[in-house]
Amino acid sequence: MNIHLAYVNQPLPAYRERLMGDLKARLPYAISDGLLTLDLKPFFNAQRNQYYSTKILLQLIANRPEGAGKILGLVAPDLYIPVLTFLFGEAQLNGPGAVVSTFRLHNAFYGLREDPALLYDRLLKECLHELGHTLGLVHCEDFRCVMYASTYIEESDIKAADFCGRCREGLAG
Ligand SMILES: [Zn+2]
Ligand SMILES: [Zn+2]
Repeated sequence: MNIHLAYVNQPLPAYRERLMGDLKARLPYAISDGLLTLDLKPFFNAQRNQYYSTKILLQLIANRPEGAGKILGLVAPDLYIPVLTFLFGEAQLNGPGAVVSTFRLHNAFYGLREDPALLYDRLLKECLHELGHTLGLVHCEDFRCVMYASTYIEESDIKAADFCGRCREGLAG
């Protein structure tokens, strides 16, 4: 099984190789990456000034490259689903698709000075978390585990960028 990392409507970032390496080190699967152009306009909600995450997810799944069992789309705009104010990312449990937004991972969003190292750390955690869901993992009660459900960025920052022992076992199964 192959996981494809798609940079949606944005150039390949400087951390591209590093992110692929860090994901490969923590997930027992082959990972590829590349650019993907998607028309997100139909999913824009002008009242909320956000994009409907679940609909982007379905587009990602429909645009999976040949041979990719799972696709993780990285998007720049802010995401929502109707019952939530926002989300960092969304995934289908045991399904083929996941999406992560970098919008609220930037320090600048919180009125703080940008910190590229922290941004990368947050992005890696979100990617691992959402991919964990596509690989069958549910939320973990260990607040240090990457599968812990973080509602606020502070909770994300406390987590390790890795799975706890139990979740790791679940990944292998
Ligand atoms: Zn989750
Ligand atoms: Zn865990």
